[in-house]
Amino acid sequence: MSENIIDEFVVPKCTGKAFKVNQGQRLRVIEYEGKQVASLMFFNAHNYKEQFMAEFSGGLNYFQFPTPGSVGSHYRLGELYSKVPYENLMLRVTDNKLGNHFLGTHCTTKTMEIHGVPGHRSCSDNFSDALQAFGLQLEDVYSPSVLNAFANVTIDQKGDGVLHVEPPRSEKGDYIEFQAEMDVLVAVSACPDDQSVINDHSCKAIQIQILEGTD
Ligand SMILES: [Zn+2]
Repeated sequence: MSENIIDEFVVPKCTGKAFKVNQGQRLRVIEYEGKQVASLMFFNAHNYKEQFMAEFSGGLNYFQFPTPGSVGSHYRLGELYSKVPYENLMLRVTDNKLGNHFLGTHCTTKTMEIHGVPGHRSCSDNFSDALQAFGLQLEDVYSPSVLNAFANVTIDQKGDGVLHVEPPRSEKGDYIEFQAEMDVLVAVSACPDDQSVINDHSCKAIQIQILEGTD
């Protein structure tokens, strides 16, 4: 397979960026330095009301792609769907060697208040800045649940559905790759949380590549 990188850029630490990926193109989200979460939102590029729905996609993947031999306890992240009532396939995961991500909430103003640092920058600020370029505000976003690439987060099996957070296992150069199944607007946040272990207590940049390939 030959592939062409048609766009490539670095999202600086503690910032966000929004950009379009056309149907058939591939999006690679890459650890620029390692141990850094990249929170990702996706919208139908032609109808911003149609948005990626994280937990819903997780549920569908659970039933679609059970890990052999462990049905009922694991699933493989394979396909990303939009929210009801659309329920369309938005992107397909095409390369995921690390396989350690989290479908759930990103950090917000409230998260930083709870950390004891009110006013500290959060993913909400990054998304707000990034989406402004496309005429979108946070009020237009259906849910703060996103695909948190490289987030080593699980739902605590001993809790009441609360989260258990550990430092990322990802290293420089690790990536997750998606193929767009529709034209999508992508918003990425290089998570600015240096308060918790989610980014191993230091914020870093994220690299993005958009590729076109031919078999
Ligand atoms: Zn964050």
